[in-house]
Amino acid sequence: MTVYNILQVALPVPLPHLFDYLAPQDGPAILPGARVLVPFGRRKMVGVVVGRADRSDVPADRLLAVSEVLDVGEPLLDAPLIELLRWCWIYYKHAPGEVVASALPPALRKAKGVLPDPPQSYRLTAAGRDRLEQPAGRAPVQFRMLEALSDGPLGADGLAGIGSQWRKTLTSVLQQCWVVAQVAAPVKPRFTPGPELVPDQRKAVDSISGALDGFGCHLLDGITGSGKTEVYMSLLEEVITSGRQALVLVPEIGLTPQLLRRFRNRLGLEPAVIHSGLSAGGRLDSWASAKSGRARLVVGTRSALFTPMPELGMIVLDEEHDASFKQQDGFRYSARDIAVKRAAELDIPIVLGSATPSLESLRNAVQGKYSWHRLRQRATRAPLPAWRVLDLRQQSTVNGLSATSLEAMTEVLERGEQAMVFLNRRGYAPVLMCQQCGWSGSCGRCDAHLTWHRSAGRLVCHHCGSQRPAPQFCPDCRADALVGAGEGTQQLEESLEKQFTDIPILRFDRDRTSRAGVMDAQLEQVRTGAPCLLVGTQMLAKGHHFPGVTLVVIVNIDQALYSADFRALERMGQMIQQVAGRAGRMDKPGTVILQTLHPDHPALELLLGQGYEAYARWLLEERQAAGLPPAGYQALLRAEAHDRDVAERFLEDAVRIFPQGETRVYGPMPAIMERVGGRSRMYLVVQGAVRAALHHQVDQWLPALRKLPSARKVRWAVDIDPQNL
Ligand code: ADP
Ligand code: ZN
Ligand code: ZN
Repeated sequence: MTVYNILQVALPVPLPHLFDYLAPQDGPAILPGARVLVPFGRRKMVGVVVGRADRSDVPADRLLAVSEVLDVGEPLLDAPLIELLRWCWIYYKHAPGEVVASALPPALRKAKGVLPDPPQSYRLTAAGRDRLEQPAGRAPVQFRMLEALSDGPLGADGLAGIGSQWRKTLTSVLQQCWVVAQVAAPVKPRFTPGPELVPDQRKAVDSISGALDGFGCHLLDGITGSGKTEVYMSLLEEVITSGRQALVLVPEIGLTPQLLRRFRNRLGLEPAVIHSGLSAGGRLDSWASAKSGRARLVVGTRSALFTPMPELGMIVLDEEHDASFKQQDGFRYSARDIAVKRAAELDIPIVLGSATPSLESLRNAVQGKYSWHRLRQRATRAPLPAWRVLDLRQQSTVNGLSATSLEAMTEVLERGEQAMVFLNRRGYAPVLMCQQCGWSGSCGRCDAHLTWHRSAGRLVCHHCGSQRPAPQFCPDCRADALVGAGEGTQQLEESLEKQFTDIPILRFDRDRTSRAGVMDAQLEQVRTGAPCLLVGTQMLAKGHHFPGVTLVVIVNIDQALYSADFRALERMGQMIQQVAGRAGRMDKPGTVILQTLHPDHPALELLLGQGYEAYARWLLEERQAAGLPPAGYQALLRAEAHDRDVAERFLEDAVRIFPQGETRVYGPMPAIMERVGGRSRMYLVVQGAVRAALHHQVDQWLPALRKLPSARKVRWAVDIDPQNL
């Protein structure tokens, strides 16, 4: 074997390995983390160099050279990040190139993309000061710009106030050498003291800030309103003051303008925001300022996890139980788990916050692997809401609401307060049904009913998105007997509008708030404190405080009590607790009404009687007894095909070649919703008590799976630590 200068390149293709290319003969050394343009088949592709070698398994005559080095100088991804990404593709068994691509902002995945220059600021020169001594003369705008700079340097945003032609003016004062450009100095944060911490908060802050110098995982287990965010901010202040950067990760739905405003006001700095809804340019700017160290605080959703931050000193992950931290397709990773890994590698602390910790984190806390900080009182000392379980078997309902619930709502509104109705189903009705023959609208491509969106006059499948106009008459028997069965948020809204004619009804669900500005306008209306009714889906359960709301009605959670998914009860408990947490304030305690057909279900009795922690510990015992996560470990082999038999055959072949060991494989079985988008989804569960054994067996299994002839006819993927069946 000849010795070469080989670059190992991660290319964004769904193949389970890296690609070897020859480094250019001359030119500067290429460091791992730099992007290169390489020939791939008939095209050119952007890849990231992740390693170097002096030999390759590729025969010498087939080794191709890199076409172009896109990042000369400092590489885009630093060494610790490359190592983290390497850990990810090995642990999650996903194509390395796709894993690495997910760490780059979309703009840098293209050959044309370049890291923007740091923002400039402009400073008056001695000549510029001399010019100011003279009369303005015939260039008053230039003169005004010089005056503006006489108190110190300004950036583009500071100069824009001069007038619409400010760029032209700037060019001429630069040409005259009255002004020079320089790299803007990072803005110094100006902290505003927060409220005096209550004892629980104080204890948590003291204990975590005493441990800022090394790795440690801290579970901040605090009920809604207990002041977790204040705890984060005290810690962030300390980390940032000591010259380090901090990363705050929040769920999709938690990244609200209010949260950013709180950080801005308290910490006196502009957080760099990173989430998938940003424009490519905005995302690139945030990424670049995090990478350069200018941004001291990065706030983002799942994908912000991989942001390069050279001086990262702490990670905070809020609402750590939230399902949106797990990516559900492609590179199926858990941002929470990788965040813990990143903190461990960098030897820095990580704070996981939640009012309803996941069983995974709770178990780590119980076992002493995580430090456990409990906040059990509301920081404002507002009393906790009172529960009321309403037995629906004893009551008739109108559009899903019992007479007792309606009375309670009337009372609250008459007192000048606000009420909230929670129903986790958007649309008008779950099903459109024929009362004559029993026909119901169902999706031809999924095992699902079509949801009736009455105002739009459409039937929509909430699983594959397919839709069609709602029929006037029954498609089967032609009778004029179509009615909606069950309730969705639209129907609730309509029914409440009839019963509370002079009260504003504000609906919060994806259909309503997808229109720009609607969410903010409605939140603004709630904040005025005037009586109103909020109706909505889990969008209401997350991220917002509604101090004027003193009554919460939870319409229906009964499906969760008898679900086939072993996580259903955990999620139900979290949801009930989160919704309830929105209500009540100091002077006006709240009430939560839970309508159910199963008031005696032991899970409900435990949750409402003894609270989330007792409930979660009980669930944990059940999982322990069954060897289910987090007491055991799982991986899924997922397969889908148009034809159920084809998927099943592949999975049966897969079972046959599963390697020997202590980990077992179960299945094939159909996904809880088997048909989605016209494809059948099946899976195998790989389950065992020892994580390392599971990974060892799956790693042995994968190369053999790829060789199965039946694998070519299906779409398949491994899902490590799956969250959904
Ligand atoms: P969480 O994040 O746990 O839901 P927050 O930090 O948002 O709680 O606090 C809830 C409310 O209580 C906020 O309005 C916050 O300003 C207030 N708050 C938090 N800590 C204190 C404190 N120590 N004293 C007074 N008010 C506080
Ligand atoms: Zn019919
Ligand atoms: Zn569908």
